[in-house]
Amino acid sequence: MNTDWYKGKNVLVTGGAGFIGSHLAQTLVERGAYVSILDDLSAGTLDNIRSIEQDAQISIADVCNENSVIDILKDSRIIFHLAANASVPYSVENPRNDFQRNAWGTFNILDVARRFDIESIVVASSGAVYGQPNQFPIVESEAIQPISPYGASKGAAESICQAFSASYSLPIKIARIFNTYGPRQPRFVMYDFYRKLRRDPSRLEILGNGKQIRDYCFVADTVEGLLCLGELSLEKCETFNISSGQSYSVIDVATTLADTMGLSQPQIFFTGESWMGDAQKWEVSTEKLTSFTEYRPRYSLVNGLQQFVEWFDQHPERIVS
Ligand code: NAD
Repeated sequence: MNTDWYKGKNVLVTGGAGFIGSHLAQTLVERGAYVSILDDLSAGTLDNIRSIEQDAQISIADVCNENSVIDILKDSRIIFHLAANASVPYSVENPRNDFQRNAWGTFNILDVARRFDIESIVVASSGAVYGQPNQFPIVESEAIQPISPYGASKGAAESICQAFSASYSLPIKIARIFNTYGPRQPRFVMYDFYRKLRRDPSRLEILGNGKQIRDYCFVADTVEGLLCLGELSLEKCETFNISSGQSYSVIDVATTLADTMGLSQPQIFFTGESWMGDAQKWEVSTEKLTSFTEYRPRYSLVNGLQQFVEWFDQHPERIVS
């Protein structure tokens, strides 16, 4: 990838105060882009973007509000649209709000974007659109069969992308992101285990049976995938998986995390039941992304967890209860 490509360009990151968005915004600043962030702080925090607050323009606004989006988007040439509800359990409890943020929010961004001269748009979708597929590794041509309201709202957002690209020649790339982890992440399996092990290093309760298989992707790799897609110029809207291509069971994660924290292996208990919308197995093909771009994931689970643990060890104030 050409690390100068973003230099001097006006780039909007929606959801830029969130977990992935804040890492993306920071990397863009480091690469010399003029970064604007749009976030309503419903899940993100200003703390996440403290290190770039002097360098980025930060707007606290709702991605569903047309006038706010016009105001913030009008000077942008490149858009990374990440603002969304990113939680499957939240979507099960609040499907209307999830749909509003994820589907209507994407519609609003694209409907405003089509009025301006935009060079590239990357829209964050999710592996959740696949639901529970039977063919592995999962390729992008796999049917969309969501099993949660979140998967459905992301699927609807993808349809809007396809339609707007075809109707208005918007240069959209859809990024199906898979389980991403790293510093600042206030939820998800790594965070949950880390928090529990800090409280009691001798035992760990795992939701489900521990056999769920996932490709875990360190956030710097996910950001690299998004940046590669931002540079990509295509005739039509295309969809790409972004992941590490390395699968682990939840038990692998628990034992590697305990090692990384310097603990003896805890006694593991399983709840048997997982949360609704939780898929059992996701092994992901990143072949399309690596063939269209220079994306090459760099972090192993061990390297990524080292950075994750180091960061939370240094920021105990970010560990909630
Ligand atoms: P996050 O919750 O940390 O970030 C989302 C950000 O969007 C938050 O800062 C939130 O405040 C903001 N937001 C929500 N609704 C908004 C609205 N109406 N207007 C403006 N801002 C709003 O989540 P994340 O993990 O950083 O996820 C970023 C994107 O990647 C999301 O689109 C998510 O669906 C997608 N994704 C993430 C993962 C993952 O493993 N983290 C996996 C698949 C897809």
